[in-house]
Amino acid sequence: MRILVVEDDDRVARGLLTALRHAGYEVHRVATAQDAVKAAPVDVVLLDLGLPDGDGLDVLRELRKRSGTAVITVTARGEERERVLGLRAGADDYVVKPFGTAELLARIEAVLRRTRTHRAEPEAEQPMKTGDVVLFTHARTVTVGGQPLSLTRKEFDLLALLMARTGEVVSRDFIVDQVWQAHWEAPSRTLDTHMAALRSKLGDHVRIETVRGVGYRLVGV
Ligand code: CA
Repeated sequence: MRILVVEDDDRVARGLLTALRHAGYEVHRVATAQDAVKAAPVDVVLLDLGLPDGDGLDVLRELRKRSGTAVITVTARGEERERVLGLRAGADDYVVKPFGTAELLARIEAVLRRTRTHRAEPEAEQPMKTGDVVLFTHARTVTVGGQPLSLTRKEFDLLALLMARTGEVVSRDFIVDQVWQAHWEAPSRTLDTHMAALRSKLGDHVRIETVRGVGYRLVGV
């Protein structure tokens, strides 16, 4: 994990560098706003808002454009307005001088945890399974026995609805409401037609039972 310390006070910067390196971080330091925006991308920027050559908040806004970089602002005691402005400008957290090493490290860890979650790839989706029919809701794909099955949009929605309630009777009204939305005024034969098409595509891998006068039930075979 790389950290950039933006701090014009040499003494403060030295203390920070020592503590952060000791904690195992790779740390670089710059002393001006100009150098801060030019610095190579890092995981966390520790940004002193009181810089000699420019407004720390401008640096913050600039850094904010690089997604994935967490920013912790450093302000002097009593500068509440700066802290608030910093948070409004997109800082992930702040520390107030003088701060202890333990507090700083805890805040860095917390911020890294949050941004990591934020940056992480979405977890692989757990598909729905009935028999050897597997349905991925987000990707809107279906496989049967490992082979992709081509469905129309409505057929997919129908199958997803029934699979989510495998073994239960799903009423016609509910299906129409969910798949065609409430403003649907087509004859109810439309549902029968789609259901017939879906059944024929699924073959005998699963069974869609008709429950007379009520609706449908999907069962594994
Ligand atoms: Ca300063």
